[in-house]
Amino acid sequence: MRGTSSEDGRALRREAERVVNGVAQGRRTLDDGTSWFAALSQSGRQVVLQEVAGYAMQAHITSADGHAGVARSGVKPTANPAVMICMDPPRYGFVALPADEHVKAFRVLVSVLSVADTRRRQTYCRGTCGHTWHNLPPSVERL
Ligand SMILES: [Zn+2]
Repeated sequence: MRGTSSEDGRALRREAERVVNGVAQGRRTLDDGTSWFAALSQSGRQVVLQEVAGYAMQAHITSADGHAGVARSGVKPTANPAVMICMDPPRYGFVALPADEHVKAFRVLVSVLSVADTRRRQTYCRGTCGHTWHNLPPSVERL
């Protein structure tokens, strides 16, 4: 992955949508998603963290979601990203964390998003909904 043009950024955000929602909807493991993230360049990771933080904001995660997500993330509850996501309201400034915490931040964010998204799909989105990320065609799940 190289380059930071807006074109690359768009492609990367689309890829992030597929990977992250694949994990959130149980079609992909967190480790698999994390491997994808860890292989990105530093600037690519920043783009993705920003994007995923946006999903978490849209999902209206609660402090309880934060704790449940951190518990399944494999990240220590005392790590900076874990502490941030459990605050009420959560803090989303993950891109500003040291680069060596970005993988932890990704694991925490995707885990918490999975918790919140599962609840949302079982309530608000039950049946049909218009969320593009809940209606991704199966073919795009292959990398
Ligand atoms: Zn939906």
